[in-house]
Amino acid sequence: MTPKCARNRRIILSLMFAVVSCMPLLAQSSPEEMKGYVPVLSSVKSRFWKIDPALGYAVRNVGGGVYVISDNGWQSSFLVTSDGVIVFDAPASFGKNIPSAIAKVTDLPIKMLIYSHIHKDHIGGSVAFRNIKGLQIIALESVADFLKEMNDPNRLLPNVTFQSEKTITLGGKTVELTRHFYHSHEGDLFIYVPQAKFLMAVDCVTPGYAPFQGFDITTNFHEYLKVFDDLSAYDFDTFVGGHLTDIGGKRDVEIAKEFTYDVYNTVKRIHNNLDQAAVVAEAAKTVGTDNEFALFKAVLDKVTNDSVRDLQPRWIDRLAGVDVWLPSHVRTALIYVRWDDKE
Ligand SMILES: [Zn+2]
Repeated sequence: MTPKCARNRRIILSLMFAVVSCMPLLAQSSPEEMKGYVPVLSSVKSRFWKIDPALGYAVRNVGGGVYVISDNGWQSSFLVTSDGVIVFDAPASFGKNIPSAIAKVTDLPIKMLIYSHIHKDHIGGSVAFRNIKGLQIIALESVADFLKEMNDPNRLLPNVTFQSEKTITLGGKTVELTRHFYHSHEGDLFIYVPQAKFLMAVDCVTPGYAPFQGFDITTNFHEYLKVFDDLSAYDFDTFVGGHLTDIGGKRDVEIAKEFTYDVYNTVKRIHNNLDQAAVVAEAAKTVGTDNEFALFKAVLDKVTNDSVRDLQPRWIDRLAGVDVWLPSHVRTALIYVRWDDKE
């Protein structure tokens, strides 16, 4: 982006903010709305990790030298080899505790830190690693470019980069890194430790839960639709998705795929079968025919509401948080169906 473009963008953003800040707040979580959400499913609640409040995190040995760290909000993990430790992500929430958590498991030094993607909630705790001598910080080239531009003191800059695939060997262990684009603009890594049958892919599958808002705020729903088959092609027993209250396995990836495709197919069916002219004619009775934005919004709202009503009964007892985020999932699928997809 040229300096002029950047300046124009800043002006537009500040104007947008000025307009928004003059408006009443539209999206609110009122006490009534909060009370309306179904409680977290008991099957999910029973799998919450027990976190010692004094520590703020828990560590679980999942075999093959891999340990998962969680605070029931974020997850990272590390691999102990005979020649040192490789860390996968350093979340902002508990990144500062990772070196001491590792020291309780092994005396071996931390040799490498791998970034799954750019987002600060997953790597914004890396600053705690700044004094580790000779540390290799490994990330996609595109991730490193973004972080250089951002110059965020909380996200240490990578010093080893690669374009699409990299295999790391250390102390007799192997880690396979592969680039995908299901979540963030700059790319997302699959992190695979074959000896441990361990697969980590952040921000796509959250065992027990519906995906986070808008299918994990994906910047590319087309790629997101492919991520489940890409994951299932691996031979793994342990899956780490980077969030919430448990780790998972192959079955969780299958359920997430089933949910995602149900949302996509339902939205597509309802959108493609809707008599849009009738919806517009009905809305025009109230607002007239000049306000095309309002008339078009009536069409999109009708698809959204009908889709949520159709989907929610099928999923509300199967995944936690469905009622919280389903409208956002439908919106993401609707944008794809309407603007990207074929008929
Ligand atoms: Zn993310």
